[in-house]
Amino acid sequence: MARAATRLRDAQLRVTAQRMAVLAAVEDLPGHPEVEAIRARAQQVTGQLSLQATYNVLRVLTEAGMIRCTQIAGLPARYEPERNDNHHHFVCRLCGDIIDVECVVGAAPCLEGNLPASYRVDEAAVTFWGTCERCAAQRS
Ligand SMILES: [Zn+2]
Ligand SMILES: [Zn+2]
Repeated sequence: MARAATRLRDAQLRVTAQRMAVLAAVEDLPGHPEVEAIRARAQQVTGQLSLQATYNVLRVLTEAGMIRCTQIAGLPARYEPERNDNHHHFVCRLCGDIIDVECVVGAAPCLEGNLPASYRVDEAAVTFWGTCERCAAQRS
């Protein structure tokens, strides 16, 4: 929590109990938690925290570049600490587990969007879908 307070100050954000608790929750929870898991964790510190308040804090922290929000079609938003590594995600179709995939590098012409010159790309998100190790093992 003390670390969360320092990080908020460094990001020029007002330090509040809710922001500290939500930031610490995103940093402490494993994987890519959904808002409900973050809220449950943060509430252990703040007491009652509404879903709307949780979303509000998550938005502030995301806009400040402290956490990353990943929106994958058909799934609730997921959060994780921002590492500025532009990594991608693998989603298991069976259990819904999400794991990080290193940034795609090398020759990948399909990643260079064929857009008119006046369009600026600032983000390209790749989602890999398939079967995770655990589910594959259960099936065989
Ligand atoms: Zn799986
Ligand atoms: Zn990730």
